[in-house]
Amino acid sequence: MRVLMIAPPGAGKGTQGTLIAAHFGIPHIATGELLRDHVARRTGLGLAVQEYLDRGELVPDQVILDMVREAVVAAKAAGGGYVLDGIPRNIEQARALYLIAVDLGMTADVALHLDAGDAEVTRRLLARAALEHRSDDTADVIAQRLALYHQVTAPILGWYRDRGILVSVDAMRPVQQVSREILTALDQLLPLLEHAAERAGHRADLATLGEAFGAAGPAAGTPA
Ligand code: ADP
Repeated sequence: MRVLMIAPPGAGKGTQGTLIAAHFGIPHIATGELLRDHVARRTGLGLAVQEYLDRGELVPDQVILDMVREAVVAAKAAGGGYVLDGIPRNIEQARALYLIAVDLGMTADVALHLDAGDAEVTRRLLARAALEHRSDDTADVIAQRLALYHQVTAPILGWYRDRGILVSVDAMRPVQQVSREILTALDQLLPLLEHAAERAGHRADLATLGEAFGAAGPAAGTPA
């Protein structure tokens, strides 16, 4: 089972990603966690990305893509499944991730969208801030992260819908209800994935990814 998760901050990507990974016995690759780990260990990468995280901005695509490629290579060696949490966050990442995944024979089976409104996720993140003290869980930075989500991340959903791999779940409900719905949906998909070999020959059309943003959108156009 190969799942990528797309959701606004505070919708529960981390929680649900962990549960999905445990259910299927596959690695949970969370870009935010990987980055925060680098920051905590004060690695070169950590020092380079800290300011982006603190401001709620996206770290440069190449940094993320190198990190994720390495993790997907490891996931392939570990059995071939994954839960990707936190990527793609923009059209360039969606395109690059797809090409990496094709290259490794590891394209996603499901794009899981956790749907939650701004007021609810803001409330959750501020509640979490009181407990966890994440540097980006302040009102200003939360607003910035949400704005970025709507501007550059949410438009990608249409592309996954067109590819027929989008599963959208109402994430405004309690954790257990959301996870039950997700795991039921994914379990039902498992038998269908046996046809994955057939689909592997069917390349997604990257040109339509640009269309999701309209002609004036960021980085619209045909892929390299
Ligand atoms: P959230 O979704 O709650 O904002 P994450 O843990 O997924 O939390 O991400 C935290 C921060 O890590 C982001 O605000 C961003 O700075 C950085 N980050 C995570 N994933 C990516 C990515 N794919 N591209 C660029 N930056 C990322």
